[in-house]
Order: sequence, then C-alpha cells, then structure tokens
Amino acid sequence: MPKKSEKQKSEQKSDLQLRLAELPAVDELLHEASRRGLLPRFPRALVGEQIRAQLKVVKERVVRECLQVSEVFAAAAFWSVVESSIEEFLAPALKPVINATGVVIHTNLGRSPLSAVAAGQIAGIAGRYSNLEYDLKTGSRSIRYVNVEELLCRLSGAEAAMVVNNNAGAVLLALSALAAGREVVVSRGELVEIGGAFRIPEIVVQGGAILREVGATNRTHLKDYEAVLNEETAILLKVHTSNYRLLGFTGQPEARDLVALGRKHGIPVVEDLGSGNLIDLKAYGLAGEPTVREVMDSGVDLATFSGDKLLGGPQAGIVVGRKDLIEKLKKHPLNRALRIDKMTLVGLEAVLKCYLDPLTVVDKIPTLKMLTLTEAELKKKAQSLRRTVVRRCSADARLKLKIEASSSRAGGGAMPMVDLPTYCLGLQIEGLSAALLEKFLRSRHLPVVVRIVDDWLVFDPRTIFADEFSEIARACQELLSL
Ligand SMILES: *Cc1c(COP(=O)(O)O)cnc(C)c1O
Repeated sequence: MPKKSEKQKSEQKSDLQLRLAELPAVDELLHEASRRGLLPRFPRALVGEQIRAQLKVVKERVVRECLQVSEVFAAAAFWSVVESSIEEFLAPALKPVINATGVVIHTNLGRSPLSAVAAGQIAGIAGRYSNLEYDLKTGSRSIRYVNVEELLCRLSGAEAAMVVNNNAGAVLLALSALAAGREVVVSRGELVEIGGAFRIPEIVVQGGAILREVGATNRTHLKDYEAVLNEETAILLKVHTSNYRLLGFTGQPEARDLVALGRKHGIPVVEDLGSGNLIDLKAYGLAGEPTVREVMDSGVDLATFSGDKLLGGPQAGIVVGRKDLIEKLKKHPLNRALRIDKMTLVGLEAVLKCYLDPLTVVDKIPTLKMLTLTEAELKKKAQSLRRTVVRRCSADARLKLKIEASSSRAGGGAMPMVDLPTYCLGLQIEGLSAALLEKFLRSRHLPVVVRIVDDWLVFDPRTIFADEFSEIARACQELLSL
C-alpha cells in the first residue's frame, strides 16, 4: 500500500476531530445525570469518574472502528452502565456467600458463622452507645472484659483469663510479656507455620525472645528439654500442630511431664492450642482435640486459643491460666494494641453463654452443629437439597444430579486427619463444563462456593444452612440458562 501523504493524514485527522467533536461534554452529562436522578443519589466524584470512563470507551470505539459518535453513543445503554458501575463500587465488598464446600471452619470464607442470637446481639450494640467501660451500678468506669473473663474461667476451670484480637496476637503477647530478652524452648516437631506468615520461630523473635529448639522433627524427649534449661530459660512453649500430623516413628512428651519439668525448675509451660474447644467432641465421634479444661487440669500454666475456630465465636485470641501470668500479660503495652472492640465482646459473650449448658450448646452454635451432624442427617439434607433443586428446575433433561457418600473437613487447622463422613449432591449440566458452572456460581450476587470432583459440581450439605437451599435451586436454574 502506498504511503499516505502528509495532506491525506491531516485530512484524516480533521475528519476524526470532527467526529470526536460530537462527543457530549462531561459537564453536559453531569447535568443529564442530575436530570436522571443519579445526582444527588450518588457522590458527584463517582458519577464524574464513571462518566469519563464510559466516554473513553465510546471515544475508543469511534477511533478504532471509524464510526460516528451517534453510532456508538446510545443514551440508555450509556447511563445504565454508569449506574451499575457506581452501584457495584458502592456495594459492600465483604458480602455473604453460601459455603457448599463442606469445610466447616473455612478461613477464606470467614471461619465460624455466628449464631443468629450472637449476630443479633452484635447488631443491637453496634449502632448505639453501651456500657462498654461503665459500671451502671456505681456510675463509675469499669473494665470492658470482666464478664467474658468470668465466663472463660468458669468454662475452662482456669484461675484467670483474658481476651485479645486473635490467637496470633495472644501468642505474641505471651512471648513479649513473659520471655522478652530470654529463652523460649520449643520442640523441633512443633515449629509450626499456621499460614498467613504466622511461624513460631518468627513470632518468638518478634516477641523479643530467643528460640531454643530441642529434639528432632519427628521425636523430642523430655530429656531434650531438660538439657537446655538454664537461668535464661523463660518459658517452655508447646504448640498444637494444628494443620498437619507427624505419622510413624514420632513422639512428644506429654503436657503433664513437661509441666512436671517446668515446676521442678520454676519455668512456666505455655501452650498454643490453636483451636481450643470447650466441650468434649469425643462424644460425637470427633477425636484428637483436648478440651481447654483438660489442658488446664494437666497443669499447663497458660493456654491460648482462637475465638473463631472450634469455639464457633467471633475472631478473638483467648488466654487462660495462672493469675500472676495473666496479670503480666494484661500490664504489657501490647495488650492495649491488641484489644477487642465492643462487637467482638458482645458476640463472644453470647457464644460463651451457650456453653454454660453442654447439652444444648451443639444445637446453638452453627460450627458445632455442622461438625456433629450425623451421616443420616446429612443424607436427609442432601436429599432435601436435591428435591428443592428438582422442583425449581422441573424436568430439564440436561440436568444430572446424584447423591454420593463423601467426606467433609473441619478446617481452620483443626483435626487435620479427621474425615467427616457426609453425603453430597453432585450436579452436571450437559454441554457445560464444571469449571464454567463453578465460576458462574462464584460470581453471582449471592455467590455459591462449591468443589469440583471429576467434572461434577459437588454441594456438601454439611455447611449449607437449610434456608439457603432455595437460593441454591435458583442458582441451578440460572446455570441452565447459561
Ligand atoms: C490458627 C492458629 C493460630 C492463629 O490463630 P488466629 O486466631 O488465626 O490468630 C496460632 N496457632 C495455632 C496452633 C493455630 O492453629
């Protein structure tokens, strides 16, 4: 093709300029936004931003496809995109999702869902003043934690208790308050990484302490601990290996023996329990996690655990144990930096009060309820979910459903080796890949998160609330119109 002359080029340019001159001005569009009610409904800055962004899209098409503005700019479509983009921007980024994965304490999906009662009490406090640090009897200042501390002592048998922002914070606080500048002894089999950059060796350093590793990865003996004790030893730290298990030729000393060693030398034993459950789950066929009371009975001086793992409460870090040690933690400046807010406090109190009756607690706390559902109950739930889906999707021949035995997970680093038997609803739609279906479910306004197994979408009823069945059925109907 012959090269275009300068003249041709400039003619072309002026043609383009002429066409672009037809673009509406931003000011004009802002007036239009006002007429259409977008202002003052939305912040002016956002409306301006979206107008410019959508104008740019129009302009690019005019240039690229050699079109007239009138061929590209359609008012109805333009304003509908502007409006929906602003609405999307303003909608809460954190929103409910339906967890159909069967992972009960799903860290990516917000760990433990709170009971309706706890959630309601949080809502009741959030938008009002409260007696957070005010004693209504005397009219003087009080301490925000008193109630939950009393509850925690009652439920764990501990002498004293305190609450901070999360368990990682609790461990850091314990190390900082009890071991800064001194030595912390940890077994090489317990130098855990929890995820999210929480690694025991690093947290010990962050607490200003010196790590003394003892033993080997698979086996550590009491005498290994004994051999490194000296006047600089501040604490013996035991860490629950939450998210993995060592199998085979392994061994760690019993907490009881470690406690005896600590007592003999006047060194406190601190245990990071990770999950820390307040009721015995063995009764429900879930072995492997000691109760906090058992840990206290074994003589451990301080134990720390999460509020939103097996406990089923809000995010929090709980410390229970010896009063003199708890006092040291409370006085440390980090405690103030790690304090919880009123919403957490009221949620935690509500959840802890459920534990006062061990016979009904499992029915009141969703995390415990989900963990302890029986196979028969899960099968029924799967069948009921299938019925709801079938009813909604009537007789679409492309839809294939099956119910199959499978297994769920506790998650949250709890009971990593325990398979929880379940029954899942499997779904396929002829002609559509499972990956496509999964992506669609994940991106709808109320997302449904599922697993894919062998090109089947798998819905595990264990983690699906019964009142979410109809929404899942609606989602399946949407899948059929993809
Ligand atoms: C989960 C876990 C933590 C961290 O607890 P958060 O409440 O998430 O901060 C620390 N230690 C162990 C052993 C854990 O399992």
